[in-house]
Amino acid sequence: MKGVEQLKGVNYEKVDDAGLHITFGEERTDARVLDVETVILCTGQESVRDLDEALAGRGVKTHVIGGAALAAELDAKRAIRQGTEVAAAL
Ligand SMILES: Cc1cc2nc3c(=O)[nH]c(=O)nc-3n(C[C@H](O)[C@H](O)[C@H](O)COP(=O)(O)OP(=O)(O)OC[C@H]3O[C@@H](n4cnc5c(N)ncnc54)[C@H](O)[C@@H]3O)c2cc1C
Repeated sequence: MKGVEQLKGVNYEKVDDAGLHITFGEERTDARVLDVETVILCTGQESVRDLDEALAGRGVKTHVIGGAALAAELDAKRAIRQGTEVAAAL
């Protein structure tokens, strides 16, 4: 309704004064330049485990799962599986 266009299978080739250069698929075909004003990068994740370490220091047993255990990949399924397995084991 707001005119948002969703693109699938995009490779982000580069950003320059012309805009955001993209191609599609493993073959990197159909090159396009998007006339963008702003590029927001949602990249890089880090596990935050302060609480786990603090609790371990007090002898409290913890289970670290999901993004807190490994934030290197985009894998919500792993986080859900780990949560389910821990819950079932408790
Ligand atoms: C930009 C981006 C895109 C992604 N795209 C995909 C995708 O397409 N497919 C895919 O499979 N995965 C994707 N992921 C990864 C996926 O989001 C994570 O793997 C998943 O959300 C990890 O689940 P989690 O429950 O471990 O952590 P989270 O989903 O991060 O949940 C942690 C929760 O704990 C809360 N919290 C944190 N600290 C405290 C505190 N001290 N007290 C109380 N609550 C607290 C947070 O607010 C949050 O709600 C993406 C991640 C990002 C950042």
